[in-house]
This record gives sequence, C-alpha cells and structure tokens, in this order.
Amino acid sequence: MIPSKFDYVRVNSIDEAIQQLQQLNGEGKLIAGGHSLVPLLKFRLTEPGALIDISRIAELKEVRKEGNRIVVGALNTHFQVANNQIVKEHIPVLAETVRQIGDIQVRNRGTIGGNIAHADPAADLPAAAHVLDAKIMIQGEDGAETMDMESFVIGPLITMLPENSVLTAISFTIPPSHTKSAYLKFSHPASGYPVIGVAVVAGVDENNMIDYAKVAITGVGDVAYRATAVEEKLLGQELSETVIKEASQYAAEDGEIANDLFSSEEYRRNLCKVYTERALKAVLF
Ligand SMILES: Cc1cc2nc3c(=O)[nH]c(=O)nc-3n(C[C@H](O)[C@H](O)[C@H](O)COP(=O)(O)OP(=O)(O)OC[C@H]3O[C@@H](n4cnc5c(N)ncnc54)[C@H](O)[C@@H]3O)c2cc1C
Repeated sequence: MIPSKFDYVRVNSIDEAIQQLQQLNGEGKLIAGGHSLVPLLKFRLTEPGALIDISRIAELKEVRKEGNRIVVGALNTHFQVANNQIVKEHIPVLAETVRQIGDIQVRNRGTIGGNIAHADPAADLPAAAHVLDAKIMIQGEDGAETMDMESFVIGPLITMLPENSVLTAISFTIPPSHTKSAYLKFSHPASGYPVIGVAVVAGVDENNMIDYAKVAITGVGDVAYRATAVEEKLLGQELSETVIKEASQYAAEDGEIANDLFSSEEYRRNLCKVYTERALKAVLF
C-alpha cells in the first residue's frame, strides 16, 4: 500500500503542464483530485517518475454556455458540477448523475475531467456524457482537438488521449426545452459504483408522439454505450407503457455485457431492461 518513489511538480497553466509532460518523456502523470490515481499508485499498478499537479490551473475551472452547448472545465469537482446554476438549468441530467457519485469526500475532490480521463468502466459520468453528446476537449503539443465519447474511451481504463495532452473541458449539448431527463443507478453494495446506471433524455410532441430519445448505459460492460436500438424503437411512437416496455427489451443490444463474481451476464442483461424501463417511465410520465 506504499507507492513507489515519485517526484512532484505543481503547474499553473495548461502550457506548463504540456511542457512538463514533454520533459518527463513518458514518466510524468497528471494528477487532479487523485481519487482514482492515488489508489493505483498505492497498489503500484502505475509507477510514474513524477506527478504533475494540475489542480490549481484556473483556466480548467470555468463553466460557460457557448451557443447550444455547455462547456464544463475538467477541474470542476463533482460537487461543483452538481451545484452549478448553468448545469442545473440547461443539462440537469449531468447534475443528477454527479450527485450520485461516491460520497461527499469523493464528490469534493474527484473531478469531471479525471473521471472521464480515467475511463473506469464502472463510472457514472459516461452515461450522462453519452446522452448529452459530449465532446472531449483536449490541448496537446500539436494544439487543440475535440473527440466524441465513442472515439475517446475505447476500453476499460483506455482512452485515445494523445501523449503529452491535457483534457481541458467537456462540452455537452443542451437538449430541446420540452425534454426531461433522469439518471437511475443501482449501486454495488460494497463500492457504491454503479452495477448499472441508465441516463435518459426524452420528450414528446404536442400529439404525445415521442420525438426525442437518448438513452445510455454504464457499468454493465467494459465501456458505457448509447442504447440506440431502444431509441429507434421509441422515436415516432405514441407514448404508452407498452411502447416503453417493448423498447426497453433492446437495452442490452448495443453493449458488450460483462460477467463477473457479483453478477452474471444474464442478470446484467435483465438489469439493462428493467432500469431502462424505469428511467424512461420516470422521464416520460
Ligand atoms: C471511495 C471512492 C468512491 C468512488 N465512487 C465513485 C462512483 O460511485 N462513481 C464514479 O463514477 N466514480 C467514483 N469514484 C471516482 C471519482 O469519481 C473521481 O472522479 C475519479 O477518481 C477521477 O477524478 P480525479 O480528479 O480524482 O482524478 P485523478 O485520480 O487525479 O486522475 C485519474 C486519471 O485521470 C488522469 N487525469 C486527471 N485529470 C486529467 C486531465 N484534466 N487531463 C488528462 N488526464 C487527466 C490522471 O492522470 C489519472 O490517470 C470514486 C472514488 C473513490 C476513491
């Protein structure tokens, strides 16, 4: 439980962080809240030569509205995101999701950027990110770039973050004003992480026809996914309990569902259907 020896450097800007990463030539690791990295260090699952502390970079703490999107700086903690007025007003499913992460200490230290960059398959945040068409904003030695969630997280703890780069912010689409949203989670009794988490943003038109449906699921496999098969079954249908129940049967179609000591694949597939149905009903009725 004692990490290997490492150096520590604190940086005050994104450029400085990139320079440090370059100088350390693969030996440097960024640290934000430390809530995922420190356990890995203690188990010696990662042994960087130096930690580059980005936690005081002011430019990573902004939250702003840009046209039809909300841009949330990577260093905002879960607590700050949950209580941010702009987030609560425009993308409430994000606030509802981060409120359910860990406990108060975790929410006070853990950051939204660290959560996405760590790519834990059991993290809550990716479900909300998927239903809000999140774009991951990155600054690296070749300038700025943006990736969507599907291209950014490619496996458990594996992302496409380029070498010597900083995840600077995540930008989320503001859903149409007539939609509602929910995040429904079944927590693992020991860890509190989701065994399943389902995020939904959906709405009906003036004729009670479903005209907007985004559904995403986290926790059940190696990566979170958009349940597009469910969305397709819902869109254009008149809202009814039967339509929701039938569409929810497709909730596991788009994911690779895992099997582990806590729950079998069959059990998780069933959770996908049950929790999707519950989340859709919570939003649409
Ligand atoms: C007891 C406990 C319970 C938890 N429960 C939950 C839960 O229920 N649900 C859940 O979703 N999460 C949970 N978490 C994780 C927590 O939500 C944090 O968000 C998560 O640990 C990562 O954020 P961090 O700022 O601490 O990142 P760190 O630990 O500092 O970093 C994690 C990784 O991301 C990299 N990184 C960090 N910031 C950046 C950046 N800006 N750019 C590029 N790379 C970066 C680091 O190099 C490192 O590899 C829990 C953690 C603990 C300790």
